[in-house]
Amino acid sequence: KYFRPRLPHIWCPGCGNGIVTGAIVKAIDKLGLNQDETVIVSGIGCSSRASGYLNFDTVHSAHGRALPVATGVKLSEPRLNVIVVTGDGDSTAIGGNHFIHAARRNINLTVVLYNNNIYGMTGGQYSPLTPSHSIATTAPYGTLERPFDVPELAKAAGATFVARSTAFHTQLLVDVIAQGIAHDGFSLIEAVTQCPIYNGRQNKLGDAPTMMKWQRDHAVNVEAAKKMTPEQLAGKFLIGVLHKSEAPEYTKQYDDLVIANAQKGAK
Ligand code: SF4
Repeated sequence: KYFRPRLPHIWCPGCGNGIVTGAIVKAIDKLGLNQDETVIVSGIGCSSRASGYLNFDTVHSAHGRALPVATGVKLSEPRLNVIVVTGDGDSTAIGGNHFIHAARRNINLTVVLYNNNIYGMTGGQYSPLTPSHSIATTAPYGTLERPFDVPELAKAAGATFVARSTAFHTQLLVDVIAQGIAHDGFSLIEAVTQCPIYNGRQNKLGDAPTMMKWQRDHAVNVEAAKKMTPEQLAGKFLIGVLHKSEAPEYTKQYDDLVIANAQKGAK
């Protein structure tokens, strides 16, 4: 019931986008959210095509603009569950300004960032999350730029729930997306996933199973990491809930402000 019927599959064989989209649906199901009160907003890119498959109120917006559209939806109807589907280029390049300001406001949106480290739909260009020295169509000798650590970026900008998982660690991915949706504030879930067509071929990372084995072998649960030495953690990345804090949620503050001023005007 959560997917639109009879749509052709448009993702490449081995792409991780279907796994991440499936995890979002499982998280919604786990929480028992009302389908008519759940809105999926996406930007542009391979991952953002997920909104087309999903049988909710969906908005497939403009490149980098999913967060301002989602902010408008949430402000106009705060009771709605608003989930943003975006990619690494969509959210941290053209949409980077919207990303940090939505986190700063602590507006109750759940952002699932499909991070395949590359622009897939437009042909293999490097993004702000592409590792340094990776080959891309816009960096044939390797990119010199350093990537953002996107959970750290979100945390520094003011996000109150930050988590990461991978397409390989599907159960954890479902769990952290569900926690992010249930959280009352801005939540970011980075979903590390694979693009075997561009990132895989350009950087000789192998096929989809090989790329998923890499996820398995390089991800360390944040709890297990507490017992590991810096040497053991070298070259690894953390998964699990990476940050959680309390701060006033934006739409509630906004309502309070409007009501207080209306009452003042009525006196
Ligand atoms: Fe997936 Fe990459 Fe194909 Fe896009 S280009 S659908 S990210 S495998």
